[in-house]
Amino acid sequence: MDISSILQGGYQHPLSRSWQGRRQLTKSMFMYPIFITDDPDASVVISSLPGQRRWGVNQLESFLGPLVKKGLKSVILFGVPLNCEKDGRGTPADDPSGPVIQAIKKIRLLFPSLYIACDVCLCEYTSHGHCGLLHTDGTINTKPSVLRLAEVSVNYAKAGAHCVAPSDMMDGRIKAIKQAFIDADLASKCTLMSYSAKFASALYGPFRDAAGSAPSFGDRKCYQLPPTAKGLARRAIQRDMVEGADIIMVKPALPYLDIISDAAQLAPDHPLACYQVSGEFAMVHAGAAAGVYDLKTMAFETTESMVRAGATLILSYFTPDFLDWLEM
Ligand SMILES: [Zn+2]
Repeated sequence: MDISSILQGGYQHPLSRSWQGRRQLTKSMFMYPIFITDDPDASVVISSLPGQRRWGVNQLESFLGPLVKKGLKSVILFGVPLNCEKDGRGTPADDPSGPVIQAIKKIRLLFPSLYIACDVCLCEYTSHGHCGLLHTDGTINTKPSVLRLAEVSVNYAKAGAHCVAPSDMMDGRIKAIKQAFIDADLASKCTLMSYSAKFASALYGPFRDAAGSAPSFGDRKCYQLPPTAKGLARRAIQRDMVEGADIIMVKPALPYLDIISDAAQLAPDHPLACYQVSGEFAMVHAGAAAGVYDLKTMAFETTESMVRAGATLILSYFTPDFLDWLEM
């Protein structure tokens, strides 16, 4: 055998195996997506998302307290309004008495060191369930949509959010939000994380159950990217960088590792997030429950593949598990 054929000596020990990764998973890499509903005492099981619940603001202390103790560093909030009056412009999104703004304020008080990101979208709050405002013919009306998204972003930042994360995929919204932050003197106070390459995926089903955000007609293919659209994803990433995004995100993660890798190359100087979405999480659980693999092993393998592709931040429902599984 040739000297250059011998590789196994380099990874014969658990420690030397750990050195083979350029970067390791750490607790601070995980951002935990949580669903906040408008019943303040709610603690409601989401059957399609194992172990996850919709929470009311009064439950946040007992829910998040133990996780913060274990090393939880960041959360991303999704509002689930169940009792409000929805309309064409998503008025309840930034209602001061609504679940997101109430939760931001509560978490800032309870856990001052916890980093709070807020998903920004209108679909949970519009009567039609689309992510922007519509023309009378039912198509997206981009200009007022981005202005409304910017308005919601400013109100979340004013309430105390450390980061806003627009997930709508409307053209021009990153620029509009950044400009609105500059105008409101918030640009140095709030991070702008763009869902830059968000694909029209079959993996969002459990999330739509959880958030009640399925569109009442049509679908989101006019704004979310087609799964084959590598070039479009690259253009969207480059556009959002130019428009002022502080963090770039790819969503979903596992079927789009090549896009994460492209983003790492296109935006080497930005933090790079990926979202292990509800359907990915449910799939890992379903496979484990069917005896196909061990849950923890597969949770590691999937998230480590994202880190290998270039992600520096992972939004995942496995976050509480990783706080138990990781030492630091
Ligand atoms: Zn949306």
